[in-house]
Amino acid sequence: MPTFSLLLLPGDGIGPEVMVEVERVISLLNKKGKSEFKIQSDLVGGAAIDKYGKPLSDDGLAKAKASDAVIFGAVGGPKWDKVPYEIRPEAGLLRLRKDLDLFANLRPAICYPALAEASSLRREYVEGLDILILRELTGGTYFGEPKEIVTLENGQKRALDTTVYTTSEIERIARVAFDLARKRRNKVHSAEKRNVMRTGVLWNEVVTATHAREAKDVELHHILADACAMQLVRNPKQFDVIVCDNLFGDMLSDEAAMLTGSIGMLPSASLGAPDAKSGKSKALYEPVHGSAPDIAGQGVANPIAAIASYGMALRYSCGLAKEADIIDKAIANTLARGLRTGDIMQPNMRKVGTTEMGSAILEEVEKLLAA
Ligand code: NAD
Repeated sequence: MPTFSLLLLPGDGIGPEVMVEVERVISLLNKKGKSEFKIQSDLVGGAAIDKYGKPLSDDGLAKAKASDAVIFGAVGGPKWDKVPYEIRPEAGLLRLRKDLDLFANLRPAICYPALAEASSLRREYVEGLDILILRELTGGTYFGEPKEIVTLENGQKRALDTTVYTTSEIERIARVAFDLARKRRNKVHSAEKRNVMRTGVLWNEVVTATHAREAKDVELHHILADACAMQLVRNPKQFDVIVCDNLFGDMLSDEAAMLTGSIGMLPSASLGAPDAKSGKSKALYEPVHGSAPDIAGQGVANPIAAIASYGMALRYSCGLAKEADIIDKAIANTLARGLRTGDIMQPNMRKVGTTEMGSAILEEVEKLLAA
């Protein structure tokens, strides 16, 4: 029986509340599925600051490195607003991203038919939408040096950010895009600004060359990032995988997210480079939402993003596409039954809390596993 090791890092606020529901799904798959998941847990974020004086212990990091996948909840909250910048709760997540070299950020935007009315676009534009934004996560404008604000002789200030990419950084993210597309509808749009940015010119050249060398079987389109933003609201269903740099990915993934309704619905994955020997990539899966201090402790948080993040781990770290499809279908079926947490509540639907939503998804998973 294939065995997978998972590290659960629930974190703060609603993180632990939604992680409980993830654990119930894992236990069910351990009982009824065809694989075994070995679970370890640790503290991260504010909870780790309280216990270890830093937002991720060395032991926690070592466990993350040794796991097939890390499932992350959320970190932060007013209690830790005044801790020193270097040890703020988010620094735990940033350390994981950096030390595991998680350069590829996958943000699916899926519109469940039952929630099509919750989108800001009309139903026919978003119903059945299933696109994947692939954002380069460790390079580009957010990390390029120099990065500074200097005072000029005339008293004015000048701010500078540097956008920088190398061939290998672009190649490796392009490769991930083509691999992902092969598991989906086999189409990649590469978005950049080659008309005004040198990094856009290189991005375009390297993606084109990588495609010609390694991925001719995948349909490739180039699109200017601003045109892509426009097309995402004009005709989002034309896309399958969109690959872009760190800055444009940040914008485009938030835009795509809003096509689907609530932040409580959105999972994400961050992947590292495949290991030369095992072919496995380090990986972290997390809901897009934060720790939601305004609703923490009330039992009302939507657990769907967290459960769907585990579903992504099944697909991308465990090679269990069938089980991943079951999780997605179970979520769709639960929504079709009319159950809604507060964040996605609609007229004539039944409002439920975190546990009841988790239980309903669990029931659906059990039915689908037996089918
Ligand atoms: P947030 O995502 O925590 O909350 C935004 C709004 O969405 C809130 O009204 C919240 O109640 C609601 N919401 C979020 N997730 C929900 C869910 N699953 N179910 C129902 N409603 C949900 O963002 P924020 O308020 O800007 O940040 C709160 C804290 O989270 C801050 O400390 C921030 O730094 C941190 N944060 C952490 C992460 C992370 O851990 N990756 C990401 C974003 C924000």
